[in-house]
Amino acid sequence: MKNSNDAPSLNPKEPMRCYVCDAKEWHVVLAEKGRGPEPVHSQSKIQICKGCGSAVHEVDVSKEEKIKEFYRKEYRPKPNIANLITTTHKINYIRVFLKDFLQKNQGKQLVVGDVGAATGYVLNFFRGLGHKVSGSELTLTYRRMAEHYYGIPLAEELETKHKYDLIVIYHVLEHLMEPDKKLAHYVTLLNEGGKMLIATPEWFSNYLDDSSGLPANSFDVLFHKNHINLFSATSLQNLFRKAGLRVIKEDHIQYGQTYFLEKSEGVREPSEWLTKEGWEDINKTMLSHEYAIRLHSAGKFREAVEIVPRFPEAWLAQIFGSNSKDVAKQTDIFEIASKHCSENGRFITARGQWHYQQGRMAKAIEDLSKVVSFKPAEDLYMFLGYAYAQSGKSDEAMQAFSIACSMDPRKWAEAQGWMLNISSDRPTWDERILAEAASRLKLPKPGNATGQTGQNPESITLAQPDVAKGQTGQNHLLAKPDPRAEGATA
Ligand SMILES: [Zn+2]
Repeated sequence: MKNSNDAPSLNPKEPMRCYVCDAKEWHVVLAEKGRGPEPVHSQSKIQICKGCGSAVHEVDVSKEEKIKEFYRKEYRPKPNIANLITTTHKINYIRVFLKDFLQKNQGKQLVVGDVGAATGYVLNFFRGLGHKVSGSELTLTYRRMAEHYYGIPLAEELETKHKYDLIVIYHVLEHLMEPDKKLAHYVTLLNEGGKMLIATPEWFSNYLDDSSGLPANSFDVLFHKNHINLFSATSLQNLFRKAGLRVIKEDHIQYGQTYFLEKSEGVREPSEWLTKEGWEDINKTMLSHEYAIRLHSAGKFREAVEIVPRFPEAWLAQIFGSNSKDVAKQTDIFEIASKHCSENGRFITARGQWHYQQGRMAKAIEDLSKVVSFKPAEDLYMFLGYAYAQSGKSDEAMQAFSIACSMDPRKWAEAQGWMLNISSDRPTWDERILAEAASRLKLPKPGNATGQTGQNPESITLAQPDVAKGQTGQNHLLAKPDPRAEGATA
């Protein structure tokens, strides 16, 4: 099936050079698909370097201009409101990931560059913190939006007239031919002490997700041919070391793999930095993923997790599909699945929402708090707010609702509704004094008529029927969690 967002296939006459170890010997990945061995990807040739184990789609570097033309005009449709919401999530993520760096540089004016800046949303964020910004982008509609919406004109290449304190390369490296040369170029643009923020999808060791966090229903989508370089954590770290970069901080839970880096002592001999992966192992892993995805697509979820246990989507399909009415069975499957998927954002979200529906608020809060700690998103904060409200934790609930509506104005009415409800259910200061005096004197609790005044505010629980029928949270209370719901995706 040809997708209009696919880059053209470019088959080279000469064997490709491996961007990690410079070898030119490749193993072409073939899958057994009924009639015999055939290319594992239906539109492209995936191959693995026999020298170091890095995996790539075969491309011809002499035809790079053709690929650039595709990114200029065809790659993405015009940006719309969905871009704004998605990029808000990404900014929230970056804000958390770079917390220490941002705090340390508060009040300073850094020079921040963004390679493949898309709509300019990351630069807009840094400019808002008082920094100078400059970026590159090929896609024309994105460049137009960056210039006319954010007021940040972009160029096709990153400005080389000045040096940068931070260069962001966010989900770009996987698209680039010869990423080693390009990364080395960007390293030369760093100031002394300059840093890089680099994120790409992660293949082979990770869960079967695509980079956007959507479930991988197709091998061709998961190993999309626009992603020329199929990075494992190891091959990417090799690339960093080759370019003279050292990892300061990393995260593999959300948005693929994300790294914060600084310049190391300089480029050394490959023997000093190259960590080889066996191409046979990578081949085997890729084929098992391909097979597990095929089983998943055929509805064989149990068989799929037997092949690849770290497959959140296949576990969730079992839990919320055929076993949706059997809580005991769901509990059993969740227990087994948690051993394999406990670091997957979508899996933890689904489990938290399931706990919530079963009335286990403490467990729901535990899961949802964990997810927002690395993926701050408004829907997750709303859910956290419901769970806190149901547990009688009014302050925490108010805070969660407040964060949710600050993140997404569309949540404002619902979040405010909950906050009004919670605050008008809490006793006033004189009610509390009376209650405290009464408890010291061991008098019968006053104010039985309202049922509220005798209580310590900490122990007040919202009446369940009020919460269930009141406010617009109703849908969430009754809805079955959908792992693909907005809150569970990128
Ligand atoms: Zn290699």
